Amino acid sequence: MSRRLSRRDLLAGLAGASLLPALPRLTFAQGSALPANPDVAIIGAGSAGLSAARTLIAAGKSVVVLEAMNRIGGRAFAESETFGVPFDWGCAWIHSADRNPYFPLAKEWGFTLAQHDDSLDRAYYGSRRLTPKEMGRVKRIYREIIHVNEAAARRRDGAVSSVRPIRTPEEQIAATFMGPMDMAVDFDELAIRDYDDQAELEPNYLVREGFGSVVKRLGDGVPVSLFTPVKRVRYGGPGVVLETDKGDVTARACIVTVSTGVLRAGSIAFDPVLPGWKEQAIADVPMAMLAKIPLLLDGERFGLQPFEDMICEQPSNQDIYFLAFPFDSNLLIGFVGGDFGWELSAAGREIAADFAVGALKRIFGADAGKHIVKSDMTRWGANPWVRGAYSAARPGRTAARRELGRPVANRLFFAGEALAGEFAQTCGGAALSGRATAREVLKVVA
Ligand SMILES: Cc1cc2nc3c(=O)[nH]c(=O)nc-3n(C[C@H](O)[C@H](O)[C@H](O)COP(=O)(O)OP(=O)(O)OC[C@H]3O[C@@H](n4cnc5c(N)ncnc54)[C@H](O)[C@@H]3O)c2cc1C
Repeated sequence: MSRRLSRRDLLAGLAGASLLPALPRLTFAQGSALPANPDVAIIGAGSAGLSAARTLIAAGKSVVVLEAMNRIGGRAFAESETFGVPFDWGCAWIHSADRNPYFPLAKEWGFTLAQHDDSLDRAYYGSRRLTPKEMGRVKRIYREIIHVNEAAARRRDGAVSSVRPIRTPEEQIAATFMGPMDMAVDFDELAIRDYDDQAELEPNYLVREGFGSVVKRLGDGVPVSLFTPVKRVRYGGPGVVLETDKGDVTARACIVTVSTGVLRAGSIAFDPVLPGWKEQAIADVPMAMLAKIPLLLDGERFGLQPFEDMICEQPSNQDIYFLAFPFDSNLLIGFVGGDFGWELSAAGREIAADFAVGALKRIFGADAGKHIVKSDMTRWGANPWVRGAYSAARPGRTAARRELGRPVANRLFFAGEALAGEFAQTCGGAALSGRATAREVLKVVA
């Protein structure tokens, strides 16, 4: 998915991707005692937490990462059991690869990469395929919205829908691609400045073994305690104390990398309570929804080529995007986003699969469903340790992302995709945020 067509020159070189140092292998067996007094305690072993940990360890600091789930990676997670081929349940594209720390790492570690630029190969409105001329119009409208929005962003924040009315099918497709399928919110909930702030996503690469496998490899050697939800963080004294069922961890500073959904739900109690400005920022940058509906086919291709992109738009806003057969696999991966993404997530995998298959039947005929061998759906909204896909600022509230990143009491630090500036929402952005926050923490625990 792509958002910016024009900012590469402005942004190039800002986030220079350097390789990470090798670390000794070190893990904690489940149930083993936690190291009681590390310099820094990190909450969450996702992209941000692992990256922060590696930066601190490389600087000679002792670290422990506390992770609620039974695995590392957070929203980066790939496995092969479900479909017989690697499938990324979370992030899949290495976006902005020329500035993404995972791109050189994936190459160095021998992962199989395929460039996948998002030129939207096909679009359907109802059952009708758009002509090449209409596709050209979609792309022109898309660029036009970016320009109009860029001009508006210089003056104000608000909803992108207020700067460009959407009426025709071509306009609807451009708005769907931009809103639900990229930023994971409906077009009328997309913030002018949040959208404008985001870096161009191209060049994009997909990973045959799964982007999640690359992030997992980043965790090699990082001391993580799995199945260790942090319940309370006390930071009223000289350092921080993190309370878990396995005991307390006392550290000089703490980095919180959990999603804004987790923070908002109050799953971690802070003592003293977080200041009002921080609570407000958390409320202003809630979780948005992008859900995947992977379909395993019996070898049928419906005339689609591997890596082809197709969007199926309907007048009702019940739209779906498909990535076809990455790496020549038999997976046709549907994506639904925004309010409809939340609705289908709540409805469950059978209804979601029926919807995806219904879109295929509309286009390829009533027999299309016969070719589906297996289907599933991602469930990030129901995962209590994530609670959505990724963050999106409310219209008018984009500035809250900066507040989200401000430390509290010079010992409670924050990192994660929501704080990644122009790389917000992305896994590479989360890693950069983790690294940048770790450098801030080093000033305190030097
Ligand atoms: C469906 C989907 C598709 C996506 N596609 C892409 C893509 O193609 N490209 C891309 O770059 N990005 C994509 N993303 C976004 C990307 O996955 C995230 O931005 C990134 O992985 C977030 O990393 P993080 O470290 O900030 O947070 P997380 O990965 O959420 O890590 C936080 C960790 O904290 C843990 N945790 C939560 N509460 C507690 C607690 N109380 N105690 C201890 N641990 C706790 C969680 O279990 C989690 O492991 C996608 C996301 C989704 C859901």
